[in-house]
Amino acid sequence: MNYLQSAGNIMMKLVFPNFCLSCNKDIDHAILCNPCLDKLEVTTHQNLINDVHFSEFIDEAYVCWWYNNILQEVIHKMKYSDRARIGLEMGHLAANNFEASVYKQLDYITAVPLHHIKNRERGYNQAMWIAKGFAKEVGIPMDSTIIKRKIHTISQTTLDREERLQNMENAFVTSRPLKELKIGIIDDVLTTGATMSACAKALKKNGAAHVTALTLATPIINH
Ligand SMILES: [Zn+2]
Repeated sequence: MNYLQSAGNIMMKLVFPNFCLSCNKDIDHAILCNPCLDKLEVTTHQNLINDVHFSEFIDEAYVCWWYNNILQEVIHKMKYSDRARIGLEMGHLAANNFEASVYKQLDYITAVPLHHIKNRERGYNQAMWIAKGFAKEVGIPMDSTIIKRKIHTISQTTLDREERLQNMENAFVTSRPLKELKIGIIDDVLTTGATMSACAKALKKNGAAHVTALTLATPIINH
């Protein structure tokens, strides 16, 4: 490294200090230091669709990592700050972890719209940033407008469990016909699959041929 490069690095550090999201160690770039990155537990990357509780309308489901302490911290921080950078980087990392067979047939990548009214008020969607990072890395077009949450969804709190599920099932619409397209939907965490299934339902109703769920992490099946 020559003098100018190292002076440049020092300047960058002064202007953009960068710390590992998990252990706070000073790092040059990226979001996790190498030892913390090594603590991420990669899944087998098999299609987990048979382990998803609400799997209707979803054809395949892939998860990059098991939901462990490090992932929890990363996802938590992504919800509250610096979501663009963390989301892009996690999408990029996930893309590099998956085999191309997981996504190569997809025509579009999209993201689960904002989950809760609370998030909507905050006005950002971390899943969209993950999807952007992922799509860029794998070279598939990303269109965050394909799925939209219906604006007038009845308040969940006044409904019983059955009504809540029905409300959720019909919570999404698509913005255009999706004739025979194969769509990959990205989210941060896969739990029951209810949201993903509701998104897939809207896509299939509007002509999508195939829906693949792609998520960073899951706590549902651990080892
Ligand atoms: Zn670290």
